[in-house]
Amino acid sequence: MERDFSRYHRQMLLPGFGADGQARLGQSTALLLGCGALGSVAADMLSRAGVGHLVIVDRDVVELTNLQRQVLFDERDVAEGLPKAEAARRKISAVNSSVRVTSIVDDINHTNIERFAEGADILVDGLDNFETRYLANDLAVKRGLPYVYGAAVGTTGMAFSVLPHTGGDAPWESHAGADLATPCFRCLFDEAPPPGTSPTCETAGVLGAAVAIVANFQVAEALKILTGNFERVTRTLLTLDLWTNEILQLKVANAYEKGDCQCCKHRRFEYLDGQAGSSAVSLCGRNAVQLRHRQQRGNVDLDALGSRLRAHGKVTANGFLLRAEVSDGNGDFEITLFPDGRAIVKGTDDPAIARGMYAKYVGG
Ligand SMILES: [Zn+2]
Repeated sequence: MERDFSRYHRQMLLPGFGADGQARLGQSTALLLGCGALGSVAADMLSRAGVGHLVIVDRDVVELTNLQRQVLFDERDVAEGLPKAEAARRKISAVNSSVRVTSIVDDINHTNIERFAEGADILVDGLDNFETRYLANDLAVKRGLPYVYGAAVGTTGMAFSVLPHTGGDAPWESHAGADLATPCFRCLFDEAPPPGTSPTCETAGVLGAAVAIVANFQVAEALKILTGNFERVTRTLLTLDLWTNEILQLKVANAYEKGDCQCCKHRRFEYLDGQAGSSAVSLCGRNAVQLRHRQQRGNVDLDALGSRLRAHGKVTANGFLLRAEVSDGNGDFEITLFPDGRAIVKGTDDPAIARGMYAKYVGG
């Protein structure tokens, strides 16, 4: 049956789009990693644009403090306590019923990401921590999948499209006679910053407009990639600060040649193989989860982190450890953090919830 593309008329008029681009888009699957601020904007726009299948993975529940920027959700979702992935699926079905949506309420880690990515043509980043980004990047390089990185915190944002080097098999490596492969995320950011040093939306706040710009930049990149317009992909690292009005596109195209990337040059997938990153162990009978980094990334500055967390709950520190009482839609928690980055999250025996609290309040 001929598909009715009339709702996409304004989009098909764009250079390099047309009915062919629309048909390609309608046959493609996008895996959305996280459906918070970036992810909800991306899910909305990708489904309006007519992506064929959207797989949404998110571990969180919609909360009132999300509504300032997470455009897909509303007060009813908060009242019903809906998981974000499911709330997004319901909303998208009303926006564009021709888009197939698979919602998965889960924590993304090295044991499940390959399963979530089955059949995916692109990975779109709506994540809130470095570790899962390295994991997504590992998968992208290993499987030759495009990965569109995005991040926003405070009034700042960053984005970059990875068209991974695969050894010549990917369509972007022989596009109109040119090799358009880019550096990978790890070429640009070799190591995650030590835990507790990067700002998070929970501690530093976040401007909805910064999120929306970054997410829509990601969507534009995803549409170029899914319609085969590889030559239009930016190949620069976008950084912006809407408060200081600095908007830059950093030239990073030679980071692959100049660097010695463990991931895309040596094809070592430490995060996907479970050798790097963190492990989460439920501490039996204690209603607590211990999180531990497999590779130490430097000591945590407990004093600096303590002063940041004091605005969010009671904090005690004794030089050996820091303890913070924080709460969110999942309940009340006590995070105990040690200088080597090890943490015990009390108040849950669910590793996914513990990882979420760590990403929100400690970061990394
Ligand atoms: Zn690389």
